[in-house]
Amino acid sequence: MAIGAATGVAIAVWTQSSVVEAALFGFVGGVAALAPDLDVNGKLANKITVEKKWLVLFFAIAGLLLALYSYFMLFGIKQITGFLVSLGLLLLPKLFIKQRMMLFLTGVIVAYAGWYINEMWIVYIGLFILFASVVSHRTWTHSFVGVILFYFVAAEVAQKFPIEGLQAVLILGYVSHLVADMKMLPANKKGTKFFYPLWKKEF
Ligand SMILES: [Zn+2]
Repeated sequence: MAIGAATGVAIAVWTQSSVVEAALFGFVGGVAALAPDLDVNGKLANKITVEKKWLVLFFAIAGLLLALYSYFMLFGIKQITGFLVSLGLLLLPKLFIKQRMMLFLTGVIVAYAGWYINEMWIVYIGLFILFASVVSHRTWTHSFVGVILFYFVAAEVAQKFPIEGLQAVLILGYVSHLVADMKMLPANKKGTKFFYPLWKKEF
């Protein structure tokens, strides 16, 4: 995040932006630099993800309502089936819903919300979250494929907020993460597979 923020500020200096824009670019660059790691349960992923407990609660309420309905309205085998399903709704989500699935769901909600209010840039952000939630860590989002997909996100955002340099900050903020993940830095045991899935060499 710090490297992305520094990238944003550097672009602000380069384009001789105002102090306000420099602060904005620092923030945007920092957030963009976290985007590649949406493919793992990390800082940004946890912040934006709908919490698992709400979905568990939703299913539990549905289970309780179904139990009441079965008790009062159903008879015989249908009633027993109703009770079994409601028991499942009460117990299973807690065991089977993973935080990763919630990130996927968050992507769906964001994309749908964007589509609903007719804001394409929000749809693109939602689709990117969706994409990152289904791929393995340090693969697609950390290669040229991720950069290209994020380029489309950045283009939509820059179209909505036409600030000079904003698109560059987004893209370079993203790329700065991939550079910071490279093997040449002593803190990294693994490198960045820039050409994944074509060439799986780590750099
Ligand atoms: Zn990473």
